[in-house]
Amino acid sequence: MEQKLFADLVVNFRIKDKRKRKGYFFVVSGPSGVGKNTLLNYALEQVEGIYYLPSITTRSMRPGEAQGFPYFFVSRADFEWMIAQGAFLEWKQIHTGDYYGTHLPTIVYALENGYDIITDMDVLGCAEVMERFPENVVPIFIVPPNMEELRQRLTGREKDPALIARRLARVDMEMGYVDRYRHVIVNDDLERAGKELVQILEQYSQRE
Ligand code: ADP
Ligand code: 5GP
Repeated sequence: MEQKLFADLVVNFRIKDKRKRKGYFFVVSGPSGVGKNTLLNYALEQVEGIYYLPSITTRSMRPGEAQGFPYFFVSRADFEWMIAQGAFLEWKQIHTGDYYGTHLPTIVYALENGYDIITDMDVLGCAEVMERFPENVVPIFIVPPNMEELRQRLTGREKDPALIARRLARVDMEMGYVDRYRHVIVNDDLERAGKELVQILEQYSQRE
């Protein structure tokens, strides 16, 4: 990975999507396996002019993932170099100790220049971002219909029981933050929950 990449923006904004107002920053949280990325993909196909902000991570790529979506995958050395450069708005070590971070220069550029962005972030990261950009952040929490369903979704996606256990171990902590979120969506049926997310996003993005 070119270290130079991180002096640049991680999103290609197009002038046609620039708004006169400041940008909104939609932050989607919820326990691992609840369907955040699935819902984000669904919504991004339906809504115009909202940009996905990829986080940067050291975890390994899963089948179906690509460089830049849903993450920029980098080595630990590159990630630690970026921390030292002040490239992150916030970063966390989650689950297995892998790093996840959000790229500060891209966020500042988007919000100041009237571009709407969306990303998913754990509850602790979201709390920090809400404090830093209280006017811009729209926090959205995704909950599972029940714990059994969450377990099944995680088991369907991950093979390693240790990884599943680490993700499940954070669920209670994450669910404890739900009251801090302005919008809460139950991801029962994908189509229904996806439409609800689209409606929430449009309610903000269509503002002048
Ligand atoms: P997250 O990003 O929250 O970790 P994912 O989007 O990767 O979760 O979804 C976890 C698994 O659950 C995936 O295999 C996905 O296909 C499945 N899934 C997501 N939403 C639903 C849903 N509404 N009904 C059934 N399965 C779902
Ligand atoms: P995974 O993608 O490995 O299943 O889950 C990663 C977890 O890290 C999810 O809870 C996701 O919301 C969170 N996450 C992803 N990117 C970031 C980030 O940049 N900052 C923080 N704080 N959390 C992140």
